[in-house]
Amino acid sequence: MNSFSETFIDTLLKKYDHTLTKQGVNGERIAKRLGALSEIGLTPDSGSGRMGFSNEERAAKNLLIRWMKAADLEVREDGAGNVIGKLEGSDMKDRVVMAGSHLDSVPNGGHFDGPLGVLAALEVVEAWTESGYKPPKTYELVIFSDEEGSRFKSGLTGSTAMTGHTNQEKMRAVNDVFSTPFKEVLEQVGLKEEGFFHSSRDFSDVEAFFEVHIEQGKRLEKEGLPVGIVSGIAGPCWLQVSFKGKAGHAGNTPMDDRQDALAAAGDFVRQVYSAPAEVSTSAVATVGQLQVYPNGINVIPGEVVMTVDIRDIHKKTRDELANRIKELARQTGEKYNTEVSFDEKVRIPPVPVQESVLSIVEEAVASLDIRPVLLPSGAGHDAMMIGRCVPVGMIFVRSLDGVSHHPAEWSSLNDCVLSIHALKRTIELTMERGI
Ligand SMILES: [Zn+2]
Repeated sequence: MNSFSETFIDTLLKKYDHTLTKQGVNGERIAKRLGALSEIGLTPDSGSGRMGFSNEERAAKNLLIRWMKAADLEVREDGAGNVIGKLEGSDMKDRVVMAGSHLDSVPNGGHFDGPLGVLAALEVVEAWTESGYKPPKTYELVIFSDEEGSRFKSGLTGSTAMTGHTNQEKMRAVNDVFSTPFKEVLEQVGLKEEGFFHSSRDFSDVEAFFEVHIEQGKRLEKEGLPVGIVSGIAGPCWLQVSFKGKAGHAGNTPMDDRQDALAAAGDFVRQVYSAPAEVSTSAVATVGQLQVYPNGINVIPGEVVMTVDIRDIHKKTRDELANRIKELARQTGEKYNTEVSFDEKVRIPPVPVQESVLSIVEEAVASLDIRPVLLPSGAGHDAMMIGRCVPVGMIFVRSLDGVSHHPAEWSSLNDCVLSIHALKRTIELTMERGI
């Protein structure tokens, strides 16, 4: 019987258009490397189990380091375990163009989310070597630690450390999902807490960062396009909203004498659903958690605590939507004679992709005879964090049925390879012209 990776590679190659292997970009190599990575942390459901700061993530990084060294990259690692492979520029050594992604996964995740972006960034170097292209500026491939955040229920851990935005106090106090303190988790993979907190990079020499990533949605599939260009990365605002009424007997309290927190919350949830469309076409809002107290079959709900996840790629409209949602909660609370309170858990600024970056990526995509289509990224990525320091660009790859964070996650090898051609051209244009 074939091992999982053999079948995985065969499936990728079966429908591969071999004419896409050109200009040094090699689809067979990508398939084999995706396959080799898929074996590290393979779950019983044929998914990926490479939690951030786990031995599996470490092993995946080690495999990449071997390939990076073989491709003549000068490899180093920072205090957060981010792996950086450098190829010195032939002309402007002190200017850097970066590309990369992550190798960790959610528990039982897929084999493309993260690895594809890392392998794409490496394949650009392989292609340059084969075609004899000498990048004028320095190129850096980065593998970020713990992007998914399943370890500490946060995310973007490595990229946050690199940008110097880590909340030290919070991280020192945090335990992982197995109740292991942060310090010990780091030590398990050979890292030190102090090293972690001193891993920020000076970005003044970096011109731009690029990331290839699977779309994790169905828009490209609906458009019939292999790749798309990210117009901006939505920043989430997480609001906890509480409605406080009065618990009472479900039989003995007349309807006109109730302070039903769940009736208020239910009305509010419906309004949250239609609020984004009033603000922008890319905004979204989701009530994902709801706790009802006392949660009894014959008791009028006295209190409801819920979360609202609010996102948009523009700060102005995202914040406008957050304010609007708060106002809707206040009005609804009043209508049902309940008290409303808010606790803002997260507010991360969205990262718009600047015009000059968009035009370079558009040109790169158009050079492959692909219609350049812009789409927002609703999910956060390492590029969002790096985008706080330098201009960033992202190329999305079509996801089969939009599935991700699941063993069934799939992108065809043709689409993956096209995204690599687009990334390569994007980086070359950035090297030659600047942003
Ligand atoms: Zn990812």
